[in-house]
Amino acid sequence: MLKSYTMNPGPKKPVRVRLAPSPTGSLHIGTARTALFNWLFARQNNGKFILRLEDTDKERSEKKFEKEIQEGLKWLGLTWDEGPILNQDSYLGEFGSYRQSERIEVYKKYLQKLLDEKKAYYCYCTKEELEAERQAMIAEGLSPKYNGHCRNQINPKSDREPQVIRFVTSETKIEFTDLVRGKVIFDGSLFGDMVIAKNLETPLYNFAVVVDDEEMKISHVIRGEDHLSNTPKQILMQKALDFETPIYAHLPLILAADRSKLSKRYAETSLLDYREKGYLSSALLNFMALLGWHPEGDEEVMNLQEMTEKFDIKKIQKSGAVFSPEKLTWLNSQHIKNLSNQELFSILSAELKKKNILAEKEFLLKLIEIEKNRLKTINDFIPQTSLFFELPDYEAKLLKWKDETLPEVETSLLKSLGAVEKMSEKEFTAENIREALDSVVDSTSRGQIYWPLRVALSGQKASPDPAEIGSIIGKKETEKRIKLAIEKVTNTRENRYDQSS
Ligand code: GLU
Repeated sequence: MLKSYTMNPGPKKPVRVRLAPSPTGSLHIGTARTALFNWLFARQNNGKFILRLEDTDKERSEKKFEKEIQEGLKWLGLTWDEGPILNQDSYLGEFGSYRQSERIEVYKKYLQKLLDEKKAYYCYCTKEELEAERQAMIAEGLSPKYNGHCRNQINPKSDREPQVIRFVTSETKIEFTDLVRGKVIFDGSLFGDMVIAKNLETPLYNFAVVVDDEEMKISHVIRGEDHLSNTPKQILMQKALDFETPIYAHLPLILAADRSKLSKRYAETSLLDYREKGYLSSALLNFMALLGWHPEGDEEVMNLQEMTEKFDIKKIQKSGAVFSPEKLTWLNSQHIKNLSNQELFSILSAELKKKNILAEKEFLLKLIEIEKNRLKTINDFIPQTSLFFELPDYEAKLLKWKDETLPEVETSLLKSLGAVEKMSEKEFTAENIREALDSVVDSTSRGQIYWPLRVALSGQKASPDPAEIGSIIGKKETEKRIKLAIEKVTNTRENRYDQSS
């Protein structure tokens, strides 16, 4: 019969949660979602949100990723109450450094304690020996685990260099109540004595986390389900060190549409790449919140404030959350629509500046007015509005309405030009332009006037209404573009005569 540890929620402590990313890559969308749920939980409970950089993997950890993680969180507006400061290399807070590589002395103290109390021991077995042992166990149909050779000190191998430090793992049943998954039970007898450090100066992930969560007084550990199997191991270490066990909440995995693991082949997984692609931080926050949680009611479009009011950790689903790029794009278009024209102006003028495109405020505001509802991403704006900035090149034959001849096109363009020229700059609104054009539409057809003019102003087969374009580019530019079209027609006609003569 297994002995068992049952973890009930501990005494009510002030809420302190943490995001503990390893700076071994860009800020992953899954990590950003973990950050959001921690942040919401902290804000709802008057708690603290802590950022801790878990760089125990020396080979893979890089400073540039630390920076990217912090930049990503700042962009999302998920500010942390304790932790490193962006662009400041070393920072010591109430709990010392928030970078694990700078906390070695803390881990060392606890490792030594475990060794002194014989709750941990040096293991001298070599990789080759362990591998041979593993194969033998598999051959016998057993699930492989360390056989405890060095724990029992039978035939000690201490004439060799110690390889690692192992934890004396009790063969107990470990039970805890997860806020998302409910009661979870693990069988500790399957673990074997786990490696918790390479040596006193080099602790491994599971051990460093346990020490930090205790030292930093973490009340709730909210993290991805990929860490679920680490939890019983961490609980065993907490017991051995006489630490309190935090309350756990494991967030569902994020999956591709076919329910496979989310990969770069299916969708972009780096948060900041979405910023590059013209997504708003508010849309990403909204999208991430819906990866595993849903508010009551049908309304899905929410800002951070609304999410803070509605979020309920107990309503997070257990099953995997499917990542839909289409939904993200739809949410982005909704968040763009919800921006005021002034807000959109600030975002877009910065974008245009980056691309060295000059635009007057008034002109940009007019474009925003007509394009806002058609934008899926911020990056759509420039290609969607380029014709207002610069007339694209086009062929004269595009100006022809149905089977009209070029001289007929010219006549029609001259009529439009005449109508426009009569107007003043001031009265150059879409409505007035339409009225002026309508007055020159003769009995034949509106298309005869509107089609060539639309092409003349846009250079495109499909574009907004010419009166609308005219009102944005203004009287002068409108006249210039019509004259250019007339010139095109004349040149084409002359060329033709040249060729035929
Ligand atoms: N450092 C771990 C990771 O990046 C997270 C650890 C934890 O949340 O306990 O996946």
